[in-house]
Amino acid sequence: MAAPVVLRWITPAVLVTTLAASSLVALAQPRDAESATREANAGVLDSLPFSDRQDFEDARRGFVATLPDGLIAGSGPTPVWNMKAYEFLDRDEAPATVNPSLWRQARLNATHGLFKVADRVYQVRGLDIANMTIIEGEQGIIVLDTLLTAEAARAALDLYYGNRPRKPVTAVIYSHSHADHFGGVKGVVSEAEIKAGGVKIYAPDGFMEHAVAENVIAGNAMSRRAQYMYGPLLPPGEKGQVDTGLGKNLSRGTLTLLAPTDLIRKNETRTIDGVEIAFQLTPGTEAPAEMNMYFPQFRVLDMAENTTHNMHNLYTLRGAEIRDGNAWSRYIGEALQLFGPKSDVLIAQHHWPTFGSEKIVAYLKKQRDLYKFINDQSLRLLNQGLTPAEIAETLRLPASLAQEWALRGYYGTLRHNARAVYQKYLGWYDSNPANLDPLPPAAAARKTVEYMGGADAVIARAREDFRRGGYRWVASVMKEVVFADPGNSQARELEAAALEQLGYQAEAGTWRNEYLVGALELRTGAPKLRAPSTLTADTLAALSLDNFFDLLGVRLNGPRAEGKSMLINWNFTDVDEQYALNLENSALTYTHGLAEGAQASLMLTRATLDSIVLKQTTFAAAAASGRIAVAGDPGKVIELLGLFDDFDPMFEIVAPKQP
Ligand SMILES: [Zn+2]
Repeated sequence: MAAPVVLRWITPAVLVTTLAASSLVALAQPRDAESATREANAGVLDSLPFSDRQDFEDARRGFVATLPDGLIAGSGPTPVWNMKAYEFLDRDEAPATVNPSLWRQARLNATHGLFKVADRVYQVRGLDIANMTIIEGEQGIIVLDTLLTAEAARAALDLYYGNRPRKPVTAVIYSHSHADHFGGVKGVVSEAEIKAGGVKIYAPDGFMEHAVAENVIAGNAMSRRAQYMYGPLLPPGEKGQVDTGLGKNLSRGTLTLLAPTDLIRKNETRTIDGVEIAFQLTPGTEAPAEMNMYFPQFRVLDMAENTTHNMHNLYTLRGAEIRDGNAWSRYIGEALQLFGPKSDVLIAQHHWPTFGSEKIVAYLKKQRDLYKFINDQSLRLLNQGLTPAEIAETLRLPASLAQEWALRGYYGTLRHNARAVYQKYLGWYDSNPANLDPLPPAAAARKTVEYMGGADAVIARAREDFRRGGYRWVASVMKEVVFADPGNSQARELEAAALEQLGYQAEAGTWRNEYLVGALELRTGAPKLRAPSTLTADTLAALSLDNFFDLLGVRLNGPRAEGKSMLINWNFTDVDEQYALNLENSALTYTHGLAEGAQASLMLTRATLDSIVLKQTTFAAAAASGRIAVAGDPGKVIELLGLFDDFDPMFEIVAPKQP
């Protein structure tokens, strides 16, 4: 039976950087900073306390050793990590093409190596986007977070072992459910060691569900959008990628996952390898499953990713559900109350530590108040009738928060977080009926450009605004011309040039990347790269069958399925799970258990399903070899398999999508 293979999968958002840098970049020819950009960036120097060098001291404090050039080789030609590419950051003074505040943050994030934080507490920083924290126990070491990929984690652990006694890993802790904190786990421990029972893995309640499910259902779109947010195709450089705000970039290795053996379900103190750890659960903050940790013996507080040295995201630009600023603030306040005055060092799983209990208390208060301010003041303005763009334009941090380096918008920004609060409470509609059902972008753009006197007239006026530094408006209006006629190369170049200047002025690493990737794609088109097959065996195995069938429903092509009805049983013999998949009304639903009257019944193992998804085999081959037994009408299965969409991993963003 020759069934087409259609069970293709999605790419978790975080793994986009396995794409190799493209030669397209060379064709893009970034321009220099315009005079308005030079002035704007020079103005930043006067508005922030650049003479305060405490962060540079703290980022270097306790330095033990590092890898030459911060280089971690990979199995192919592309290194897993390479800090030599960021040598251009070696000078103190920012070039005109980079916001000086972002330049400062990018320099801080370029500090890499093994650092002693306190007696028996070490961190590896700057060798992936996140930190690995190592706590020396009685018998061995506890590894708190394992970076994004196994190669990076192995290199980090080897760096530690090269400078400290080679004691075995006795426990792993995942601070939260984001991949940059667990993906490297197999570089630190093996599945066999976990199964033998010697090594435990601790994680906050709900970890496994959120670790995998958060990025699946909308995964293709998140992956594509993440290319804008992180800029993996932008070359590092003064006119390219300088940082993400949160760390340099994402390591290019293998994402792995081992399930936790012990979940932390309530606030409690446990002794792990002789080390007392007070766990504070913080669900629904920076991640759906997250926890802070306090080490009373060492007077060290680890804030996971709930407080770092930047403003974080209530909304992440790659796309995700909105986070709750009010809850986030409340948990920071709780940590302050429980542990603040008892802490000599505050660490987090990104960025550098804060030393001294007085400073820690002050830092936590401001972090607490930052998220409360954004939440409440956005709500105040929303209740005054302001719409998202108006709130973003109006809201200003009080000077007491705005002058704090640790609160600057390098990763999240005040503007996009303010819009997030509106979205959380009121959703996409601003209640103006003119915005209820407008023409879609391309059709609206064609009418707009026509009303404005045609593309040439619009471009001529926009060039004047460009000369005056009105880049926000030029980008907006050129977007209309590009959507009206994506082949208009003058409009594409002018929009690219405007986005580029906005990128050069942006304080947020994420905004800079968004703008510069937009400019790149306007100049060269969306790269025609093959998306990597990035759902690894580990993450796939962790996906529940419910999640699998949910995603299958998302991939059903509704129009193609119109008028069809099917009932197909799936019996997974190895995991003893049964599903009845029902198609009618262009909707794919399922129930647990097998249904009466199915037109076809499949018998297979979960492992076989996984190997089809990972493209190690095809449905047809598995059926031919007897790994899938089909009872009833096999034609129905073939028909069903023909109804699923393949998602384009490199869909157009800055130009209309191809029909
Ligand atoms: Zn993180």
